[in-house]
Amino acid sequence: VASAGPNTFAGEALDRAGPRRTDERWLAEALADPASRAVLAGPDGVLVVEDDGRVAPAEVPVAGLRPKEPVLLGVDSRGAVFAVELDERGGALAPDASVRGLREVAPSLSQADGGLLAHASALLHWHRRHRFCANCGARTVMGEAGHVRNCPVCGAQHHPRTDPVVIMLVHDGDRVLLGRQRAWPRGRYSALAGFVEPGESLEEAVAREVGEEAEVEVDDIRYRSSQPWPFPASLMLGFTARYVGGEPRTHDGELEDVRWVSRTELEAAAAGRGNLLLPPRDAIARRLVDEWLALSSRGPAPRG
Ligand SMILES: [Zn+2]
Repeated sequence: VASAGPNTFAGEALDRAGPRRTDERWLAEALADPASRAVLAGPDGVLVVEDDGRVAPAEVPVAGLRPKEPVLLGVDSRGAVFAVELDERGGALAPDASVRGLREVAPSLSQADGGLLAHASALLHWHRRHRFCANCGARTVMGEAGHVRNCPVCGAQHHPRTDPVVIMLVHDGDRVLLGRQRAWPRGRYSALAGFVEPGESLEEAVAREVGEEAEVEVDDIRYRSSQPWPFPASLMLGFTARYVGGEPRTHDGELEDVRWVSRTELEAAAAGRGNLLLPPRDAIARRLVDEWLALSSRGPAPRG
């Protein structure tokens, strides 16, 4: 099945301009250029403007901000784009703008703006949490236009983190395995998911997580697509996996329930009928379900 384009929070339209990050002269000029703009984010969300149901990043000229730690996100046809910590500046600089949760506004953003704000949120979160050296505890100093933090005492370099999470739709003929967490809205079920551990391949992580969360064994693990998930720093890696054996039951306490869901029940839920609530459309879990429905409605895939 052909990919249907990037997931929400991917698809940013910037050239990330990696070589410019160490070009001090170019950076100084870009920060002074009236065409360069900043997007702002803080612990409570992103600074956005709303117009008739559409939401977009509030774009503030970076030259007027004079931020202490401007993070270069990239360049487009209009100029350079920086991310700036909202706490540094407050909300007074853009009178029509407001701070909104990124997940909350995601459905109202364009694909490119969703990617841009995910990029800015993830990087600024990383800076917020890495002001001190993990090795020696000294205060770190931003370098490479926000793509490294250096420790002036022990010399350690700290790079932005992205934490891989596998998310997998386990299928068995005409049914799939879904689970729910206690904190979710009533009736909500989703694909199983978990963090990749050190020294583990993605396929091993898929098999281990399904075993831990549902006591089920899988094989034929296939990659589908991925989704940046900056809450705060994950990359969701979507898979399908074929059921081999085991009786699904919750095991390690992460899930409240895990159960088989038939294609009929999934199709009803996708049409808004029945008690089952599927993940929101901007989540990769929903895409895995929708792709599986589209695939299985054309008849069973050849085995082997
Ligand atoms: Zn240090």
